[in-house]
Amino acid sequence: MKQSPYNQAAAGNIPQPIRNDGTGWWDLGPRDVLRDQENPDMLVPPATDAGTIPNLKFSFSDTYMQLNHGGWSREVTVRQLPIATTLAGVNMALTPGGVRELHWHQQAEWSIMLVGRARITAVDQNGRNFIADIGVGDLWYFPPGIPHSIQGLEEGCEFLLVFDDGSFSDLNTLSISDWFAHTPKDVLSANFGVPESAFACIPDHQLYIFQGEIPGPLEAQEVPDPYGTVPLNFSHRLLAQKLLNFPGGTVRIVDSTNCPISTRVAAALVEIKPGGMREMHWHPNNDEWQYYISGTGRMTVFAPNGTARTFDYRAGDVGYVPFAFGHYIQNTGDQSLWFLEMFKSDRFEDVSLNQWMALTPRQLVQENLNAGPELLNALRKEKWPVVKYPGFSYYPRTNRPF
Ligand code: MN
Ligand code: MN
Repeated sequence: MKQSPYNQAAAGNIPQPIRNDGTGWWDLGPRDVLRDQENPDMLVPPATDAGTIPNLKFSFSDTYMQLNHGGWSREVTVRQLPIATTLAGVNMALTPGGVRELHWHQQAEWSIMLVGRARITAVDQNGRNFIADIGVGDLWYFPPGIPHSIQGLEEGCEFLLVFDDGSFSDLNTLSISDWFAHTPKDVLSANFGVPESAFACIPDHQLYIFQGEIPGPLEAQEVPDPYGTVPLNFSHRLLAQKLLNFPGGTVRIVDSTNCPISTRVAAALVEIKPGGMREMHWHPNNDEWQYYISGTGRMTVFAPNGTARTFDYRAGDVGYVPFAFGHYIQNTGDQSLWFLEMFKSDRFEDVSLNQWMALTPRQLVQENLNAGPELLNALRKEKWPVVKYPGFSYYPRTNRPF
C-alpha cells in the first residue's frame, strides 16, 4: 500500500514548519532537508521573531574555492553577505611550505591561526623587519600598505583573515609577482641595477599562492636589519592572555589597548559553554562581524520597529549584527560554542542590557517594565558577557583549544 505523503514526511525525523501551538503546515513540496536541519530556527522561527531583518548569515561552505598548488582560499565579503560592509573575511589554508606570496593591500589585515603553524614576514616603511612563527590561537595584524607574506610550516595551516573593508577581495591585492610581470624589463633593470637578463625567468602572472620549500628554523631565516625590528609587535598570543571567566563561558578581548598595533580591528574570542548564553547586549561603536569556530549556536538580532530574527550558526559560518542592534547568542549544542566578535574599531565596546538597568533609577525601570522585586533585585552592576541558564550544570571540560 502506498504511504500518504504525510506519513512519508513524518517518517525519518524530517523537520516540518509547524510550531508547537499548531501554526504552520507540512512542507511537502521541493525542499532542501539538509539545510532545513541546519537551520531549525529559520524553518520554525521563535514566535517572538517578526519583520524584515535582512540576511545575517553566510557560510564559507557556500563560497568559491580558489585552489592552488600550495593551498586554497575562500572569502565572505559584501558580495556574499551584502549587509557586511565594515569587514571582509578570508579563510585560507597553506600546505607545508605553501606560500601566500609577498604582497600588500590598502586594507588592514587581522588574522588568527585555526590549525597548524605558519611563518609570517613583513617590512615597515622605515625598513624595520618582522618575522614570527604563528601557532593555533595566535594572531597577527598588518597595517594597511605594509608588505608581508605567510608560509605554512611542517604541518601546514589554516587561518582566518579579516580586512577592514567589506568590499575587499584577497584575489585583488598588490603582489610582487604581478608588479614584476607588469613592468618593462628595462625599468626592472634600472631599478635593481642589473642587466635585463636577470629577469629572464620571472613569473608572467600573479602567483597568489604557490608551493615552496618548507623553511628551516626561524633563526636561520632571520635577516639582520640595521634599522632594527618593528617597534610594535605584529603578532599576539591570544590564548596566552588573561582569560575573563563568567558563569556561562569565557572571553578574551584583543584591541589596541593590549595589542597596540591593532588600531583598525578589535576582536573578542568568546566561549559559550553548553547551557550558556552571550547576554543581551549591543555595541555602541560599529557593526559586528562574527566567525564561528566550533560548536553550534543561534543568534537573535533585535532591530527598530519591533523586528527580530533568529539565525543558526555552526563552524565556518559568518554572522553579522548591524551597529547598535540588540542581540544574544545561545549555545544549542552539547559542547562549547567558540566564535569571534570582530569590529572595525580600535576598541572592543559593548553595552549590557542588564548593567544598564542595574545602574538606572530603580523606580524608572520598575515602572517602565512593570517589573517586580524578583527581577529588580537580581540586576547586576557588574557586566557578565556570558550568562547561563538557571540550574544548568556543565559537562566536564575538554582540552580542545577551541
Ligand atoms: Mn595580506
Ligand atoms: Mn555582540
